[in-house]
Amino acid sequence: MKRIAFIGLGRMGHGMAGRYLDAGFSVAVWNRSKAKADSLLARGATWATSPEDAAIDADAVVTMVADDEASRAVWLGKDGAAANMKAGALAIECSTVSYRHALDMARELRSRGLIYIDCPVTGLPEAAAAGKLTLLVGADAADLEKARPFLAPLCTSIRHFGAVGTGTVLKLINNLMGAVQIASLAEGVAIAEQAGLDMNLVAEALSTGAVASPQVIRHSKRMVARDFSGASFTAALRHKDAAYAVALAETLLPGVPVSRAALAAYEKAKAAAPDDDEGKMIEIVSRPK
Ligand code: NAP
Repeated sequence: MKRIAFIGLGRMGHGMAGRYLDAGFSVAVWNRSKAKADSLLARGATWATSPEDAAIDADAVVTMVADDEASRAVWLGKDGAAANMKAGALAIECSTVSYRHALDMARELRSRGLIYIDCPVTGLPEAAAAGKLTLLVGADAADLEKARPFLAPLCTSIRHFGAVGTGTVLKLINNLMGAVQIASLAEGVAIAEQAGLDMNLVAEALSTGAVASPQVIRHSKRMVARDFSGASFTAALRHKDAAYAVALAETLLPGVPVSRAALAAYEKAKAAAPDDDEGKMIEIVSRPK
């Protein structure tokens, strides 16, 4: 039986860990707050007392935590997973981290005889729980082949961009463009409101017309209705991804004024309500100045 250690049981990680149980893996789980593991333990997962404890004898360790700081803590911190992994085991980073961090972790973990791949994901928490994510992978081709059996339960699609770090490059571009689209949608909705348009008609037009990207479809009716229930992606996470993406852009294409404007908009949204839905951007842009 394949042995997985799964670290980080938030909105995404909880569903992903469950996929390994459904697929018949032996699953050890750890999360900073233990209560989030309860339903997985009832389904047959084993509680580990630390990432290090989870990683003992694991064929692969998969992490799905918030950001660079959390990732470093669970891999290399006190009781981190890397301390006790067997040589040649897979270290699969699914969290959205910065490009610099992905490269640093690859160097650190490889020096300990481990195989590191960066594997950020696209898809909402429902897709995570259903094994319908898209994985954006950076890895040597041979390492990806070794990892495939451990990636299959999570996804319907694996996109391999090249060496370690390249999956993260694409993920950051993807989420930066998402920040631009949502911030722009919020301004469009706010302008339409000021102009006195029928907002149900506006929402329908935007979500079916030429600008109807999945982000516009997902957020237009909710912004018009000021419905921010069931946050699946928070202002803090969107800001983090935009900040990592702009930091990457600074090394490659320093201008990016549109991206910087979206980052500034998400700085405000995060300051106002970090754990609320990213679509609350509409309240930021329509607030009287
Ligand atoms: P979440 O629900 O906020 O979960 C964050 C996880 O990180 C929790 O398990 C949390 O532990 C853990 N964590 C945070 N800081 C930590 C630290 N210092 N040490 C150890 N653990 C720490 O976030 P999520 O939505 O699942 O997102 C997880 C990752 O997936 C992020 O990188 C995000 O950008 C990415 N992502 C999210 C989505 C989405 O739609 N939500 C989609 C694609 C990718 P506690 O439970 O103890 O707080």
